[in-house]
Amino acid sequence: ALEIRNVHKSFGAREVLKGVDLTVRPGDVIAILGPSGSGKSTLLRTINHLERPDLGYVAVHGELIGVEVRGARLHELSQRAVRHQRTRIGFVAQSFNLFPNLTARDNVAEPLVAHKRLAKPAARDRAVELLAEVGLGDRGDAYPRQLSGGQQQRVAIARAMALEPNLLLFDEPTSALDPELVGEVLSVIRRLADSGTTLVIVTHEIGFAREVADTVVFIDGGVIVEQGPPLQVLDNPQQARTREFLSKVL
Ligand code: ATP
Ligand code: MG
Repeated sequence: ALEIRNVHKSFGAREVLKGVDLTVRPGDVIAILGPSGSGKSTLLRTINHLERPDLGYVAVHGELIGVEVRGARLHELSQRAVRHQRTRIGFVAQSFNLFPNLTARDNVAEPLVAHKRLAKPAARDRAVELLAEVGLGDRGDAYPRQLSGGQQQRVAIARAMALEPNLLLFDEPTSALDPELVGEVLSVIRRLADSGTTLVIVTHEIGFAREVADTVVFIDGGVIVEQGPPLQVLDNPQQARTREFLSKVL
């Protein structure tokens, strides 16, 4: 479902990704762990081409993201083409990123109107179904400020699901939430995982990663230090850097 090949990314003189390779099969759930500043968000942003790799490439379902091959070289796609590719890659950030002046229902309906050309009433009906899937079927009329953080994040997930992406990316989806609201968001993500959606989740929730992920990836200093099944990476890490990180967060 996702191939990341030899991705390098620098900001000025600072090389943040130093050659990342990762293969994700359809239906896989990948949890990415690593210290602050290790390049986790940059990697996620590279997957949907919010950042352009300096070297290497990303492909989703065999389609290069943001670039095409002409001759033997990679060429940048148009903004419009990249925007279209992004409609197939859902992204849920740490902060909920909802439109404050739209109801929950219209936040979820917006991508359906903008990208699927659905008429507003049909988009709103679909939005209510999507809200019901995240346990908010009765809150469609609420504005973001009238919802708790956990509810807002669930609206953001419903919105990311609206275009039926074949890949969903989460960047620390629970780290802005009060502890008592973390569970409701994780249970929505768990349900997505069970339904076979391909998920890449940057998270500090080690217990959640152990339970839900097929593969845990530990990143440090812009490289993948270790990856494997949770039982291996979390409970029997091979690398000293992984052990040191886990001893601090567990
Ligand atoms: P955290 O756990 O704190 O979210 P992270 O692993 O997600 O950290 P990134 O956000 O990917 O880390 O950042 C990695 C490095 O790249 C940091 O040193 C950061 O300062 C730098 N960086 C990220 N984005 C930019 C940018 N747009 N311009 C310059 N430097 C950046
Ligand atoms: Mg980050």
